[in-house]
Amino acid sequence: MERYDPQAIEAKWQEVWANEQTFHVPNPDPSELADDRSRSYVVEMLPYPSGDLHMGHTLNYTIGDVITHMRRRKGMRVLRPMGYDAFGLPAENAAINEGGHPRAVTERNIASIREQMHRMGWAIDWGREISTHDPAYYRWTQWLFLRFYERGLAYRKEAAVKWCPNDQTVLANEQVVDGRCERCGAEVEAKSLTQWFFRITDYADALLDEMDTLEQWPERVLTMQRNWIGRSQGARVVFSVEGSGEELPVFTTRPDTLFGATFFVLAPENPLVAELVAGSEHESEVLDYVRRTAARSEVEREEKEKDGVFTGRFAVNPVNGESIPIWIADYVLIGYGTGAIMAVPAHDERDHAFAERYGIEIRPVVVPEGEELPEGIAFSAHTTGEVLVNSGDFDGLASPEAKEQIVAWLGDRGLGEATIGYRLRDWLFSRQRYWGCPIPIVHCPSCGEVAVPDDQLPVVLPDITEVAPKGRSPLAAAEDWLHTMCPACHGAATRETDTMDTFVDSSWYFIRYTDPANTDLPFDREIADFWLPVNQYIGGIEHAVLHLLYARFFTKVMNELGLCSFREPFARLFNQGMITAGGAKMSKSKGNVVNPLEFADRYGADTVRLYTLFMGPADEDMDWQANGLEGIWRFLNRLWRIAHEQARVPAGEPGDGQLARKAHRTIAKVTDDIDRRFSFHTPIAAVMELVNEIQRHPDDPAARFATETAVSLIQPYAPHVAEELWGVLGEGRLWERAWPEADPALLVEDEVEIVVQVNGKVRDRLRVAATTEQEELLALALASERVQVYLDGKELRKTIVVPGKLVSLVV
Ligand SMILES: [Zn+2]
Ligand SMILES: [Zn+2]
Repeated sequence: MERYDPQAIEAKWQEVWANEQTFHVPNPDPSELADDRSRSYVVEMLPYPSGDLHMGHTLNYTIGDVITHMRRRKGMRVLRPMGYDAFGLPAENAAINEGGHPRAVTERNIASIREQMHRMGWAIDWGREISTHDPAYYRWTQWLFLRFYERGLAYRKEAAVKWCPNDQTVLANEQVVDGRCERCGAEVEAKSLTQWFFRITDYADALLDEMDTLEQWPERVLTMQRNWIGRSQGARVVFSVEGSGEELPVFTTRPDTLFGATFFVLAPENPLVAELVAGSEHESEVLDYVRRTAARSEVEREEKEKDGVFTGRFAVNPVNGESIPIWIADYVLIGYGTGAIMAVPAHDERDHAFAERYGIEIRPVVVPEGEELPEGIAFSAHTTGEVLVNSGDFDGLASPEAKEQIVAWLGDRGLGEATIGYRLRDWLFSRQRYWGCPIPIVHCPSCGEVAVPDDQLPVVLPDITEVAPKGRSPLAAAEDWLHTMCPACHGAATRETDTMDTFVDSSWYFIRYTDPANTDLPFDREIADFWLPVNQYIGGIEHAVLHLLYARFFTKVMNELGLCSFREPFARLFNQGMITAGGAKMSKSKGNVVNPLEFADRYGADTVRLYTLFMGPADEDMDWQANGLEGIWRFLNRLWRIAHEQARVPAGEPGDGQLARKAHRTIAKVTDDIDRRFSFHTPIAAVMELVNEIQRHPDDPAARFATETAVSLIQPYAPHVAEELWGVLGEGRLWERAWPEADPALLVEDEVEIVVQVNGKVRDRLRVAATTEQEELLALALASERVQVYLDGKELRKTIVVPGKLVSLVV
C-alpha cells in the first residue's frame, strides 16, 4: 500500500477532469427543452478577480461543489458555471495598488484565480466562463441599458447624491452603510450632481409582492429587502407657503396628528430653501447652515443634537389654517419622502427634541382613551386605543378612524390624499471612474441626449493611461474616444464619460452563463427558460439589499421585455457565514489572512475542502483553526488505510447486521443533511463515525460495503482522494456512479440498549428489540436479577419508562 500522497493524486484527477471536460454540461437539444424537471442550476456569486483566492471563496465554492456532485450523481443535469465580476472599484483599486493598467492587472488576476480554482478541484463547467469586462459580455449590458432607457427606466437627472471622497465617485444609497462607503469605509458626503438612475421605484410593489414566491430564501434577507423598500400606508398632505401660496407637500403616516403640527421643516437640500429666504434678513444664516450641512455625513446628521435655523417664513396647515414657522434642519433628509416634514413634537421623538431646544409649542393631539392630557408635556408615541383631542371637529374619534376622516376631508378640498410611501429610492448607477462599462449615450449640442444605436454596440472602453480618480470621469480626458458623431444629426457630439456601477454588470450574468457565446441577443429565451430560475444560489448576506435586490429588479424588467418567462432569478438562496481567524475578520492590516492554497500545498485540497465545511454550520460565522486541519488529515489517512485493507476482502453480501445498518443510516443522513437541511458539517461527522465502526469490526461481512459507502459519500467533499480509493475498491468512475440509496428496511435499529436505573443509579443495561413497548420494558427491568438486588422487596414508588432509552425506578 502506498502512502496517501494528496499532491500526486490531486494533480492526476484534475488533469483528467480538465482533459475530458468532465463537468461541461451542454445545453439540451431543442426537443429536450420542454422538460426541465431533471435540470439543476447551481450558481455561486461570481468573484471579484482581486488575485488571491481567500477563505470566503473556498467556503462558498465548496458548498456549491458538494451540491453539484451530489445532484450529478442523482442523475440530474447540473449546470455549475464560473465567471468574474471584473469591472468596478474592487478590480480598479487592486490595479491602482498593484500598479499597472486595470485591464492588465485584472486579466492577470483572472488567470491566477482560475488556476487556483483548478487547484481546489471544483467541478466547474469551464466552457461557459464569462468576464464582465469582456466587450462580448458588456455589449449586452449596454444593450440591456438601452432597452431600459427606451422604456424610461434609465434616466439622468440632477439630484442630491452620496459622494465617497476616497473613491472619488458617487455611490448608490445601497452602497452607503451607516453613512460610510460600503467599499472603503470613508464617510460619505452630500453633493448635488447630474447622474444616471434606474427607476427601480417603479418596481417597489412587484419587488415586495413577489417575495411571496421566494419560500426558499432565508427569512432575514427577505426582511432586509422588505425594510429597505419600506412600504407604508399614509397620506400626502399639502401645506402652503404663507404669502406666496406655493405648495409644500409632505408625506405622513400619521394624518391623525395634523392638528399637533406646530412647525414645518425643510431639508437643507430642498430646492425651495434658497427661494424662500432670497433677499431676506435670514438669507445669510440659512445659506450658511446649508453649506455646513453639506460637509456632514448622514450619520453625523442622525447622531448629532438636532439643530436648525428659522427661515422667517410660515406654512399654512391645511386642516386649521394655522400659520406655523418654517425651519431648515438637517435631521430631515432630502432622500426620503418629499424632503419636507410637518413637525409634531408631542408625538415624534426627533421633532420633540427640536421643539424643546428652540422653545416651540408642543401640543398633544392624541391620548389613550379615558385618560387626561399628560401632566407637563412629554413625548408620547401611542399606538393603540388612542383618541383625538385638540383637533377641532375630529375630537374624540379613535385614531384609525380619524386618519380616514381627516384624509377624506382633505381630499374633498384638494389638499391631500391617501397614498403609499416607500423608503426605496431610484438606483444611482453612474460612476466617475474609468474601469467600468461605458454608458452608450452621446450628448449632442443640437439633439441633446442620444442613445447609441444597437448596431454600434459595444461602445468599447478605450485604453487610457491616466486612470486614477480625480472627481470627474477619467474618460473625459480620452479625446479621441470622447469626440464622436451624433447618431441622429451626424453633427459633432461627445460621449457620456461616466461608467456603470459594477452592480449593473452582475445583475444579469447568471442568465448569460446559459448561453455565453450568443452574438444576436444577451441570451436565448428558451435556453434561459430551461435553466432558470437558479435552483441554488450561494453568496454572502452583505448583498441582501444590493446585488440580490438589483438582480430581482433586472429580471422583472427582462421578463417584461419578453426576454425570459421567469420573474424571479433565484428560487433558493443560501447565505454562507464568514470565516474569521483568531475571532477577528481576516484582513491584510491585521495580518491574519488565511490563504487556502498554502494549506492545500501542505495537506492537499481535499483536506482544506473538508475542513472548511467541517468547522461548523456553513450559514454561521466560523473561526479558522490551523490545527483542526490535522484531524481531517488523520481521518483521510485512516480512510486510505482501511480502503486498501478492505480492497483485499472479496466483495460479498453485506447482510443486515449492525455495520450494514450503520452504513445505510449514514447514507440516509448524509443525503438528507445536504439536500434538505443544508447542513454540510454533519455529514462529515457521520462518515467519520462510520469509518470508526469499520475500524472496530474489520471482519464484519459488511465491512467492505461500509468502506465503499464511506468513500462514495465523502466524494462530493473530497473528490480526488475518493476517486483514487474508488479505483482501489470499485469499478468505473465514482463521479459517474449513482448516488447511493439507503434501504428503508435497514434504517431501523433492530436492537437497542435500555438503561435501568434504581434511585437514579445505573444498575443494569438490557438489549431489547427496538420496538419493545413500555409495559414490556418495565416487566423486563423488574425481572432483571441485578435490579432485583436493589429492589429487595422495597415498595416501588415511581417508575419512568422512555422506550428505546431507559427505565427508571424509585423505591
Ligand atoms: Zn469609498
Ligand atoms: Zn445631434
